[in-house]
Amino acid sequence: KPLYSARLFTTTTATRRQGSTHGKHTTKLYINGEFIESQTDKWIELHNPATQQLVTLVPQPTHAELKHASRCAEEAFKTWRKTSILTRQRVMLNMQFLIRDNMDKIAHAITTEQGKTFADAKGDVLRGLQVVEAACGIPSLLMGETLPVTTDMDTFTIREPLGVVAGITPFNFPAMIPLWIFPLAIACGNTCVLKPSERDPGAAMILAKLAEEAGVPKGVMNVVHGSADTVNFICDEPAIKAISFVGSDHAGKHIFARGTANGKRVQANLGAKNHGVILADASKNHTLNQLVGAAFGAAAYESKDNHRRVIPSGCMALSTVIFVGKSKEWLPELAERSKALKVTGGLEEGADLGPVISPQAKERVLGLIQSGVDEGATLLLDGRGFKATGKYEKGNFIGPTILTGVKPNMRCYREEIFGPVLVCLEVDTLDEAIKIINENPYGNGTAVFTNSGAIARKFTEEIDVGQVGVNVPIPVPLPMFSFTGSRGSIRGDLNFYGKSGVQFFTSTKTVTQLWRHEDATVIQAAVNMPT
Ligand code: NAD
Repeated sequence: KPLYSARLFTTTTATRRQGSTHGKHTTKLYINGEFIESQTDKWIELHNPATQQLVTLVPQPTHAELKHASRCAEEAFKTWRKTSILTRQRVMLNMQFLIRDNMDKIAHAITTEQGKTFADAKGDVLRGLQVVEAACGIPSLLMGETLPVTTDMDTFTIREPLGVVAGITPFNFPAMIPLWIFPLAIACGNTCVLKPSERDPGAAMILAKLAEEAGVPKGVMNVVHGSADTVNFICDEPAIKAISFVGSDHAGKHIFARGTANGKRVQANLGAKNHGVILADASKNHTLNQLVGAAFGAAAYESKDNHRRVIPSGCMALSTVIFVGKSKEWLPELAERSKALKVTGGLEEGADLGPVISPQAKERVLGLIQSGVDEGATLLLDGRGFKATGKYEKGNFIGPTILTGVKPNMRCYREEIFGPVLVCLEVDTLDEAIKIINENPYGNGTAVFTNSGAIARKFTEEIDVGQVGVNVPIPVPLPMFSFTGSRGSIRGDLNFYGKSGVQFFTSTKTVTQLWRHEDATVIQAAVNMPT
């Protein structure tokens, strides 16, 4: 039985299958509790972004394999939906323990395949783990409502699972975002087909193995791979009732349109352009530390007990900063602190910033920096010439880069950069900053830095963005709340995780019942609408 193993992360030892993969290591499908070698002839090469070494080949599964996954999930639903709520709670309790216990292993896979630093990768796992911890409260989360409406009659609601649900996830959080989706989905009684990003599926494979160890039965959790063909299968497959998607606008709009046209429930978290707003009355040291972390990688801060806490940034990165009034005088110091970040392979001691995911991503980011220069912005810090040495010399590295004097009509402002580039605008008033942010099509996250409660209150009231931080750079809500990006950053009505996530993965049945002792003396048909 070809079990998934830690060998996934090496380039040398995998020789399980000859043929179209020429003995190279391959990522398996996980269907009906088995790690299966795909019979496809279409493989996607996955390279370590810090070294360009081939890590594994990821299959584009055949149609028959995809159908097999959805059929197994459909079959497993018949029994899984009937398990007691305590059984599902116990599985979540086991899973949160196993994920915590295997955090380093998952983080190692993430750094190898995706490039982010090991500390950042652990933050990626931790933020997903917190959703599993919240899912341990599934008995309370699934409770319905009840009301005695009149004598002998009461109404109550039941939250029922939907059936087979699918998750389609992006490359930038290979553990956190699958964990936003599948644990809550199965805790609600659904079965799941997960399609992680073809660019870094290793973390999802380990999570599938841990789910199995935690007691998730065969067919309840399945992992398939590939890109557009798999996604289109998921959108069209009648057995799949709902799709949770996180990723780019391009893919998300397509999935939302195709999935909903086929009658599925779809939630799609899309792109982002998160703005930080800096007032001159803010605490300077705190603000600059937060900005550097939130713009260029994991935002780290010293907690009271002196532990370095890491908040992964990615789609919640503060990629754009608006300096209001005199706070722009802090720019040189911001550049100094950014320049001090250690750029190297993510597994190196003290690494602050790893490579971008691929040579193509690097090209795109360099092009966007150049577009800023061409359109009149100033390069306060230029990371384009960064050269890694030794085993990392072929890595996709870009040093921290800061563009100032940026205007909203410039390409580097309008497009998502998704690289270590901080775009800075300067304005005179808070109202101007609010106007710029509210005119931006995205509504994922924003943060204001100030010591004035009145300014913070004005900002939180007037800003049209779904997640707001006050002196907190990356305001990703903990999972007792939901991830509430708004406007262009979401399609669909129900948010990820929290109460909203439970609503997404269930439908409500409302029962009105009458229990009355028989009275044989009243003989009259009830022909009127009850009043
Ligand atoms: P992506 O859209 O390229 O990929 C996401 C998923 O969609 C992958 O599983 C991929 O296989 C699939 N996909 C890609 N192209 C497709 C196509 N043409 N047809 C069908 N399926 C397709 O996104 P990415 O580059 O992996 O991730 C980065 C993007 O995700 C950024 O735009 C970022 O802002 C966004 N993101 C958003 C959030 C959020 O919560 N709003 C969180 C993380 C990432």
